[in-house]
Amino acid sequence: MDVPKSTTPMTPTRTALIVEDEAEIAELVKFHLAREGVDAVIAKNGKKALELAKKSPPDLMVLDLMLPDLGGLEVCRRVRSDDALKSIPIVMLTAKGSESDIVTGIEMGADDYVTKPFSPKVLMARLQNAMRRRLESRSEPATGPVVRLGGLLTIDHERHEVTSDGEAVNLTITEFEMLAMLAKRPGFVRTRDQIIAGVHGPLTVLSQRTIDVHITAIRKKLGAAGIAIETVRGVGYRFSDAS
Ligand code: CA
Repeated sequence: MDVPKSTTPMTPTRTALIVEDEAEIAELVKFHLAREGVDAVIAKNGKKALELAKKSPPDLMVLDLMLPDLGGLEVCRRVRSDDALKSIPIVMLTAKGSESDIVTGIEMGADDYVTKPFSPKVLMARLQNAMRRRLESRSEPATGPVVRLGGLLTIDHERHEVTSDGEAVNLTITEFEMLAMLAKRPGFVRTRDQIIAGVHGPLTVLSQRTIDVHITAIRKKLGAAGIAIETVRGVGYRFSDAS
């Protein structure tokens, strides 16, 4: 289902690669992407997906995990370790209740995931978000305070200062780094192991359980802005996407 390119003459057509062996699901995703002006091709297995991606890197990869030959997690790993492909946004399609696969996929560098069965509306929102965030992270300036939640929360990386509703918040270095790393990519879940790997405070030994304790402490200190940190059950935490 191709969308006439003449409808959006000013913007180049975005492309997607759908990696999915179930034809019905693949066609459904392709149909909804086409309605948003995204031109998608379908790969029915992992090997074909890598072949197509190398030939013409897409702007987005929708990746099913259960594939007949090369599993989705392995496809994800290979994409992320290939210099020409590693910045492609990847959204995984997973079966419900496969939290360990989701955690592994996120740690291998998938941007987001959607569980099957999904509503097309939710899927499209996640896909658009993944494409948009990748573009933003390429152009985001390295310095300057980050303002979130309609100005309720500001995070100043240079000064290591945080304010909630205009009031200074006194965070420890570890708490600051955890908040800063989550705030860097709003809307994207981070696993506990990723949070541990991303925090470099002095004398910090973090375990999965202490992450939860720190998060609770940060939320409490943030007061009204504590809603910024959302729990994603079975997976980890994410910073609110509400701007
Ligand atoms: Ca499948």
